[in-house]
Amino acid sequence: MLVPPPEVRIPPRDAVEKAVLELERRLGPSKVDTSEAGRTAFDRDDSEAIGRPSDAVVLAHSRDDVAAVLAIADKHGVPVTPRAGGTGRTGGAVPVAGGIVLATHLMSQIVDIDRRDLVAVVQPGLVTGDLHAAVEAEGLFYPPDPNSLASCMIGGNIAENAGGPRAFKYGTTREYVLGLEACLMGGPVIRSGRRTVKGVTGYDITALLVGSEGTLGVFTEATLRLVPKPPEVATILALFSTLGACGAAVSAIVVP
Ligand SMILES: Cc1cc2nc3c(=O)[nH]c(=O)nc-3n(C[C@H](O)[C@H](O)[C@H](O)COP(=O)(O)OP(=O)(O)OC[C@H]3O[C@@H](n4cnc5c(N)ncnc54)[C@H](O)[C@@H]3O)c2cc1C
Repeated sequence: MLVPPPEVRIPPRDAVEKAVLELERRLGPSKVDTSEAGRTAFDRDDSEAIGRPSDAVVLAHSRDDVAAVLAIADKHGVPVTPRAGGTGRTGGAVPVAGGIVLATHLMSQIVDIDRRDLVAVVQPGLVTGDLHAAVEAEGLFYPPDPNSLASCMIGGNIAENAGGPRAFKYGTTREYVLGLEACLMGGPVIRSGRRTVKGVTGYDITALLVGSEGTLGVFTEATLRLVPKPPEVATILALFSTLGACGAAVSAIVVP
C-alpha cells in the first residue's frame, strides 16, 4: 500500500538555509551533505512511504553532533528525521517535511560488554548482527533478532521496539533496554533508566522512549541487558494436519 505523506508544515526556505549554514559552521562541511545524491540516498526506507526530500543530511559522529543538530534545528524551526539502518517498514526514517535527516550509522561503537553485570553499552548506529557476534564471542546472548539484523541498527530497533523469530521465547527489544541516553529537540541530553535488572523507582522514561519512532528524542547510547548464551540451538520442522494441533504442540512445548 502506498502511504500518502501526512499534512505537515514545510519550513520556510530562508530558515532552512540559515540552519544549514549554521550546521556547516558548527560541525564542519564534511558532516553536512546537501548534494542531491547524498540526500536521495537517505530519503527512503524499506516501506513504500514517499515523503518530501530532505534539505540536508547530517552524518553524526557523536552525541555532541546530535545535540548540535537538534539545537540548531529547533532554533530555526526546521524538522529533523533520525535515521539508523533505513530498513524500517513503517516509514519512520522518511522525512515528510524536508528539513534535516540525522544519520546515526557512524555512531557504531561498542562502549562496553560487561560479563559480570550482563550488560552491553553501545552507540545507536551499531548493526544488530555485529552486536550479536560480539556478545556471543563472550559467551553471552542478545536475543532481539529482527530478520534485517545484517543491516538494521540498535537505535532503529529501539525506536521500533523490534522483534523477530526469537520474540516468542525472549520478548522484543523493549525487554532488553535497561537505559538510554537521548538528545531532545533543542539539544538537552537526558539519561533514563539504569544498569541493573532491578530498577523500580521513578517514572519509566526508558519504556516511553522505546517504540517512540524518533518522535521524542534521538538515542545516542543504549545500555542493553544480556543473558547467557544458550548451549544449543536447534531448528525443527514439524508438519501438522490441523491448525489446532499445531497450536496445541506449541503450548505443550512451553508448558510440558
Ligand atoms: C528484510 C527485513 C526484515 C525485517 N524483519 C523484521 C523483524 O523480524 N522484526 C521487526 O520488528 N522488524 C523487522 N523489520 C523492520 C526493520 O528492520 C526494523 O523495524 C528495524 O528495527 C529498523 O531498524 P533500522 O536501523 O533500519 O531503523 P530505521 O529504518 O533507520 O529507523 C526506524 C525508526 O527509528 C528511528 N530512529 C533511528 N535511529 C534513531 C535514534 N538513534 N534515535 C531515535 N530514533 C531513531 C527513525 O526515525 C525511524 O522512525 C524488517 C525489515 C526488513 C527490510
